[in-house]
Amino acid sequence: MDIDDLRTRILAGERRALARAITLVESGRADHRADALRLLESLKGHGREALRVGLSGTPGVGKSTFIEAFGLMLTAQGLKVAVLAVDPSSARSGGSILGDKTRMERLSRDKGAFIRPSPSQSQLGGVARRTREAIDLCEAAGFDVVLIETVGVGQSETMVAEMSDLFLLLLAPAGGDELQGVKRGIMEMADILLVNKADGELKRQAIRTCADYAGALRLLRKRPQDPEGFPKALPVSALEEEGLQKAWDEMTALADWRRAEGHFAARRAAQARFWFEAEVRDRLLARLAREPLKGAMKTMAGQVENGEISPSAAAEELLRTHLMLE
Ligand code: GDP
Repeated sequence: MDIDDLRTRILAGERRALARAITLVESGRADHRADALRLLESLKGHGREALRVGLSGTPGVGKSTFIEAFGLMLTAQGLKVAVLAVDPSSARSGGSILGDKTRMERLSRDKGAFIRPSPSQSQLGGVARRTREAIDLCEAAGFDVVLIETVGVGQSETMVAEMSDLFLLLLAPAGGDELQGVKRGIMEMADILLVNKADGELKRQAIRTCADYAGALRLLRKRPQDPEGFPKALPVSALEEEGLQKAWDEMTALADWRRAEGHFAARRAAQARFWFEAEVRDRLLARLAREPLKGAMKTMAGQVENGEISPSAAAEELLRTHLMLE
């Protein structure tokens, strides 16, 4: 594969080259992996910076409606918008519902937008790695905003928050006691809570829900990466396209403040470190599950069972022989 040519075309913002590069990073083949790493390294230092926005919410809350309306609003302002997805169910089923173009038909036809469904991988760690690399590629291709969508289930949310500059939680209008349904940990990750469906009969309820969330947010410990008033809760209607500009204004204000205060770069640096450490851990674990380590471990486990060797001595010998670890 001509990596130099692919690099040049990505930097020129060519969609087809970007799509091809994402396919390359998603491939599990060893030679593709080597090419992907070479490409990603060669793209370093392009100096472009997208705003990476994570968005989570339970099914039916209006994620695709929101992303389509919000994305179209941004492209109308001349911004280039990429939409990626982390679908935890794809790790199990091999299929993906998130980031599906048929869910966002108008946006997928927009020249300023690029939509890519979640990679299907056997492990959530694999999905996360591919998405992280796809974000880098979109950034190199000159996208101004990269939206990363996920469904509200613990681990995938944490992963998306760890690859985003800003993290949004999309919520439905609810009766008072339903607020507790949102886990504290997730509230703590969010920068902006958007209470969707603030229209028609649901409008009053949405505004009340929003006030309830705002109250709950005030009880959280103030984070150093937040200016006064953040995290905040805002009502929106994805369907009637209301509150979207206000949400964008708040997002850019927060990002600008974090840039000025150094939190923006610090967060990216901490994320790079997080993913490096996660990758080392994942790869060590993967080695354990593969031959020859797997077989050696089984053999030694037998010896430990028979009392031929102690558990600690066996572990030490195994790691020294196979991983050259002391
Ligand atoms: P997702 O599963 O989170 O992607 O949710 P969808 O975007 O598919 O929306 C689920 C349902 O909620 C659809 O019937 C939408 O039309 C509806 N919906 C989405 N946004 C709004 C909104 O702002 N107001 C109202 N009233 N309905 C909405």
